[in-house]
Amino acid sequence: MNHDLVRRFLLDGTAVRGEIVSLDDCWRQIASRHDLPPVALSTLGELSAAAVLLSATLKFDGSLIMQIHGDGPIALMVVECRSDGRLRATVKEREGTSIPADAQLGELVNRQGRGRFAVTLDPRVRNENRQPWQGIVPFEGDSVAEVLEHYMQRSEQLPTRLWLAAGPERASGLLLQQLPTEGGRDIPADPDAWNRMETLANTLERSELLQHPPAELLKRLFWDEPLRGFDARPVHFGCGCSRAKVAGMLKMLGTAEVEDILSERDPVEVRCDFCNQAYQFDPVDCAALFRDTVTGDHPASRH
Ligand SMILES: [Zn+2]
Repeated sequence: MNHDLVRRFLLDGTAVRGEIVSLDDCWRQIASRHDLPPVALSTLGELSAAAVLLSATLKFDGSLIMQIHGDGPIALMVVECRSDGRLRATVKEREGTSIPADAQLGELVNRQGRGRFAVTLDPRVRNENRQPWQGIVPFEGDSVAEVLEHYMQRSEQLPTRLWLAAGPERASGLLLQQLPTEGGRDIPADPDAWNRMETLANTLERSELLQHPPAELLKRLFWDEPLRGFDARPVHFGCGCSRAKVAGMLKMLGTAEVEDILSERDPVEVRCDFCNQAYQFDPVDCAALFRDTVTGDHPASRH
């Protein structure tokens, strides 16, 4: 069974919409690249499902990036979902600590209450009107769903509820969102729909979320509701790293620094945090990097 899909739905005649996501192969590709104990792994999976869900609610061409900046054994957790459905994720452990196998989420990322949660929208094409935007809030809640719900509240976005679950094989999630009813028009024929849908979704067990494919879950939960589903959109694992980008990063370090690294380690190896791909640069490659810079057509760097 393979369902790397996100599906939108509406409740006809109401102001409630939703998204449901299931990540199988895509999630296993991410999970297999990080050696994490269960709580950390399920947190990364839930954050991945949440990023796909939130990204699906936006009309936005670019990357949605969710970050947990932790003050405990997990220093950083990052999930990036692009509007074309490409997903990647990574975790940085704090140096000198290890992630306890049985720790709760709060102990991992909010030990001293200094954890932060951030959402960034990075447009694919940047210009005057399209600049990256970031919202950042204190880490509040005992689960990814709660933290994200608080974030939506604090940033005065649409009332949103999330139900998330992740294990080694699958990450899944359900999102419900209450749409605005502006100026008295579009008054929903069914004003109780939000509470009813929320109550139904609250009956959802994590095990059910992980067990059933999205279409079946929707049927089970909202079988008595006038649900209208839309085409599912695919999600896939993918990383935007490249040898050229790593070369650019080495150039930024400067020739002295790179030579310093080479003296300790030849070739220089840079490993992508997201996909684990290794890029190697031997002394000849490194020399070429800086030779290109000197002879390259960059008038600004000549004086
Ligand atoms: Zn990569």
